[in-house]
Amino acid sequence: MHENVDIMKDPRLLKHYSLLQELGILSHVDALRRETRDLESLLAGASAIFKCTDVDEMIEATVRCITDRFLPSFLAFVWRPRSGHEDLVIRGYRNLKQVDAPLKLESLAPFESFFRKYPGPISFDLFAYQLGDEALTEPFDSISPEIVVPVVGPSGLYGLILIGAKVLEEQYSARELSYLDKLMASLAISIQNHLHYEHSVRDVKTGLFNHGFFMVRLHEEIARGKRAGYTFSVIMMDVDQFKSFNDSYGHLAGDRVLECIAEALKANIRDLDVLARFGGEEFTVLLPETNREQAWAVSERLRESVENLDIPWSQALPRVTISSGVAVFSSGDLQDADILLSRADEALYSSKERGRNRTTIWGAGLLFRSCLVRENPGQDA
Ligand code: GH3
Ligand code: MG
Ligand code: MG
Repeated sequence: MHENVDIMKDPRLLKHYSLLQELGILSHVDALRRETRDLESLLAGASAIFKCTDVDEMIEATVRCITDRFLPSFLAFVWRPRSGHEDLVIRGYRNLKQVDAPLKLESLAPFESFFRKYPGPISFDLFAYQLGDEALTEPFDSISPEIVVPVVGPSGLYGLILIGAKVLEEQYSARELSYLDKLMASLAISIQNHLHYEHSVRDVKTGLFNHGFFMVRLHEEIARGKRAGYTFSVIMMDVDQFKSFNDSYGHLAGDRVLECIAEALKANIRDLDVLARFGGEEFTVLLPETNREQAWAVSERLRESVENLDIPWSQALPRVTISSGVAVFSSGDLQDADILLSRADEALYSSKERGRNRTTIWGAGLLFRSCLVRENPGQDA
């Protein structure tokens, strides 16, 4: 049969119409057509989700897929941006617009085992009944969802979608729930891929980029610098006297310090800078399109942000400091990654030697002179 021929218009069908109807063939064909349409829209939705590069975009794409199918009075997404951490992102949508979701949910952990057992969409009433603990479902009361859809993958529960009653009709059909269920499978796979990628480029403890990713970006930047003849800088930082800090306050307090330092450094750089945990208590940052004066200013800003950190802990902790070394790539002085890093390392070593908690810029022939003119880095050029 040629696909363009509409069998519903075939005169033989009209001749046997009542028989076909009686046998249920016509409604079966109708059901098959609906199913094909559903699968096509599911495929289009899944491929839109797979194309996204971050979870925010995936969620936007999922919201578009859902609202293309039906119009819920309200939709809320809850997800864990970092696996292994309990901090949640909550996002609400009403009439296709993003709105605040008045949801006081602290953690997804209490629902993890439930959704591992029942990994599909469920009516909120049944969900609340099955959990049998009002305290657990109370945070949801403010938005009174009708359906709860878990996003579950191999690493557990990534998030929840809470869907309010339909604007126009009463109930969600089995077909719509099945669509949601399949769509969530695509979202879960997409999130899982994203997590795998993130794990391959990030350090688990601090969430900063890892050594490997930093080196890849550094090589790219050197190639670009040589090609386009432009300047960029690298800062290498090392926590001062960290061994004795660990010895006095314990490794867990030390880990907390590293997390806080990472946050402080992140808050003080641009989006295009590449900040990495280079090793145990060593951090590096790649500053594209940054000359020595600018790199100096950034390095000092980072150093001061760490010096001023209050680290919340069960006991009072002393201030921690970092020492830094800066190396500048300029196309006139062709360097490779090893040379650049060893210069930053040499400059860092000089900062340590000269008393720590300071920045040194590597300078050819005038090694470390810059650390003597801390207040006026321009003179050292
Ligand atoms: P300096 O000022 O010369 O850098 O002294 P330092 O004590 O920091 O240097 P050293 O290299 O002797 O010690 C580094 C310490 O950093 C030792 C190690 O236990 C600690 N360290 C490295 N990674 C971690 C980590 O992930 N967590 C904790 N708590 N400590 C770490
Ligand atoms: Mg070190
Ligand atoms: Mg150290």
